[in-house]
Amino acid sequence: MKIDILTIFPKMFNGPFTESLISKAVEKKIVEINTLDIRSFSNDKHKNVDDKPFGGGSGMVIKIEPVYNAIKSLGIDKKNNTTSKRYCTKKPYVIYMSPQGIKLNNEIVKNVSKFRHLVIICGHYEGIDERISNYIDNEISIGDYVLTGGEIPAMVLVDSIVRILPGVVKQKSSLKNDSFFNGLLDYPCYTRPQVFNKHKVPKILLSGNHRKIFEWRIKESYKRTKKRRPDLLCNS
Ligand code: SAM
Repeated sequence: MKIDILTIFPKMFNGPFTESLISKAVEKKIVEINTLDIRSFSNDKHKNVDDKPFGGGSGMVIKIEPVYNAIKSLGIDKKNNTTSKRYCTKKPYVIYMSPQGIKLNNEIVKNVSKFRHLVIICGHYEGIDERISNYIDNEISIGDYVLTGGEIPAMVLVDSIVRILPGVVKQKSSLKNDSFFNGLLDYPCYTRPQVFNKHKVPKILLSGNHRKIFEWRIKESYKRTKKRRPDLLCNS
C-alpha cells in the first residue's frame, strides 16, 4: 500500500511513523508513507498557504490552489467518485480529515485498508477552502471534537489501517480478538506477577485448561461489552 499525506506540518509525522509497528511495516515494504508539504506547492512568492475568509469572520482558510497543486502532482486532477466499496480500482482514494466527515470506526478502517493507494489531506486553521470537495472521495472524522489540525487524525487513520495490513501484526489471532473485530470488546488480560498488591490473577487463567480459559474469555468479553458498550450488542 502507498499512502501520501498532504500537510503544512510534515515534521509532525517524524516521531509516530519512525517507531514501533509502523516503522517495521515501512522497513518490510508493506507500506510506503510519504508526506508532501502543501507549502511547497504554493505559487505565492512567500509560500503562503492561507488567506482571510470571504464574507469576513475569524481565522484563516487554507487556499485551494496549493492543495490542488499537491493533489495534481500525484496524478489526480478531479474527483474520481471512487466509493469505499470499490477497492480494486488503481485510482488513489482521496480522504480529507475533517470533523465534519463520517466518524471513523473499525468497518471504515477495514474498507479503506483495501485500497492500494491512499491520499490523506490534513487541514489547519479554519479548514480548507470548500472547493476541496471537488477533489476528494471522502471526509473522515476521528470524533466529535475539534483539533487544531488534521495531522493527528491522519496519524490515527494511518496507524489503524497499517496495523491490520497482512504481515504487520505477527499473530493474526491477536487481530481477531481485538475489540470491535467480532462486535465485542476484548477480554481482560494479565501477565506476571500472579499477585500484585494483593490483587490476584483469576485462577482459571493459571489452570492450564484451555477449553475453560476460552469459555471464560468469551464470557468476560460479553460481560464487559454489555456493561461498557451495550450499543455494540444492539448493532450485531
Ligand atoms: N472550522 C472547522 C469546523 O468547525 O468544522 C474546524 C477546523 S480545524 C480547527 C482544522 C483542521 O483540523 C480541519 O480542517 C481538519 O483537517 C482537522 N480536524 C480537526 N478536528 C478533526 C476531527 N475531529 N477529525 C478529523 N480532522 C479534524
